[in-house]
Amino acid sequence: MHELAITESVVAAVTERLPEAKVTLVRLEIGALTGVVADSVRFCFDLVTEGTNLEGASLEIVEPAASCRCRSCGAVFEPDWPILMCSCGSADVAVESGADLRILSVKVA
Ligand SMILES: [Zn+2]
Repeated sequence: MHELAITESVVAAVTERLPEAKVTLVRLEIGALTGVVADSVRFCFDLVTEGTNLEGASLEIVEPAASCRCRSCGAVFEPDWPILMCSCGSADVAVESGADLRILSVKVA
């Protein structure tokens, strides 16, 4: 399960940096183009945090919409994941947002 591995790496990143802190909240950004299912991450979070200093922490997930710009006609559009194709027929597009998966902030007690 893709989301389990992602959740594990998020939790590992937080415990590595804040090994002594009691973490109460983690805010994550999961862009629409990452293909990661936020609900699955929420589900995995409780399992993965068990026995760590993140146990019982809340998880907030921000899901920015995807945005692409077509290099052929210049149109900016919201792609229909996983197909990044402009309505003009070009697949030569630049992803402007929605491709990031990152920790936005962590709150400690
Ligand atoms: Zn286009």
